[in-house]
Amino acid sequence: MVLEEPKRPLVLKTIPLPAPQAKEVLIKIIACGVCRTDLHIIDGELIYPKLPLIPGHEIVGIVAKTGTNVLRLLEGDVVGVPWLGYTCGKCKYCMRGQENLCINAGFTGYTVDGGYAEYTVANEQYCFPLAAKYGNASGAPLLCAGLIGYRSYSMIHANATNIGIYGFGAAAHILTQVAIFQEKKIFAFTRDDDQEAQRFAVQLGATWAGGSSQSPPEKLDAAIIFAPVGSLIPKALADIDKGGIVVCGGIHMSDIPTFPYTILWDERAIRSVANLTRKDGDAFFKLVSELPITTEIKTYPLSEANEALSDLRNGKIHGAAVLVMD
Ligand SMILES: [Zn+2]
Ligand SMILES: [Zn+2]
Repeated sequence: MVLEEPKRPLVLKTIPLPAPQAKEVLIKIIACGVCRTDLHIIDGELIYPKLPLIPGHEIVGIVAKTGTNVLRLLEGDVVGVPWLGYTCGKCKYCMRGQENLCINAGFTGYTVDGGYAEYTVANEQYCFPLAAKYGNASGAPLLCAGLIGYRSYSMIHANATNIGIYGFGAAAHILTQVAIFQEKKIFAFTRDDDQEAQRFAVQLGATWAGGSSQSPPEKLDAAIIFAPVGSLIPKALADIDKGGIVVCGGIHMSDIPTFPYTILWDERAIRSVANLTRKDGDAFFKLVSELPITTEIKTYPLSEANEALSDLRNGKIHGAAVLVMD
C-alpha cells in the first residue's frame, strides 16, 4: 500500500521484491500495526517523507533471506522492525548515547519503506528478535505503541505511584498492563463522551477512568499524554502534584494554549519523548517476554489499509489496528 503524495489515499500496487543489502535482511511480513504517526505522515503533518512511500513501522515478520554481511539474524528468525531504522553512530547525539536524536537517522515507514507490504528489507542491527508468543498480529503494537509508551514511562521517577494517562489507545493499553504489574495506580483520561474507552481502561486494571475535562480523585505524581491535543498539557499540569512531570509521547500535537506559571511552579516539568533507542527496545522486549501482555487488536487485510487509517482517525479503535498479510 503506497503513499504517492500526502493527503491522498494509499494505493494498492505490485512492486518488485526488494533485495537485501549487505547488512540487511529480507523480511516476510506477518503483520504491521497502524500507528497515529502514519496518519500524521499521510495527512502531511510530518513533512518530507520519502515518496513514493510504503508506510508502517510496527512490523512483525520472519527473516526470509540475509544479506552477505548479516551476523546476528538467521533465516526463519521471528523479528520486529520499529520506527528507528538506522542511526549514523558518529554524530554528537549518537556519541553520547542519544541515538534517538541522531541527525542522520532513518525512520521506518517515513524516510525508508515500511511494513504496509508483504515483504520489506531492514538493517539487522535495528531489528528486535521477538518471543514466539508475539510472532503474530497481536505482537505488532508492541513495536511502537508499546516501545514509545515504555520510553515515556521510563522518564517518570521510579517512586511515582499515581500515573495519569491522557488518550487511551494503543500505547496506553499496553503501558497500563506493564505499570500495574509494577504496582502503579493508573488514572485513565479519554475523550469526554467515550465511555467504551473508559470501560476498557477499568477492565485493564485502571484505578479510575474519566473524561479528560474531569479532575482525577487523587493528585497525580506524573502524567503521560498520548493524545495529540496540546490543551491537555496545562490540564495535566493542573492534575499533577509538586515535583511531578508531564511526558508527551506523541510526535505531533496541536498548539499549546498559554497557561499561568503557577501550574508549572513547584518543580513541575514538561518534556517530550522522541523516537527510541535500541537500548529502550532491548529493555522493553526483555520485560514483555516475561509478562503476559495481551493486546487488543482489530485486524484488517493489507488491501484495507485506508479503512484502518480512517477508523483510527475517527477514534473507532480501542486498542490497536493491525494489517495482516496472507
Ligand atoms: Zn547519529
Ligand atoms: Zn508509531
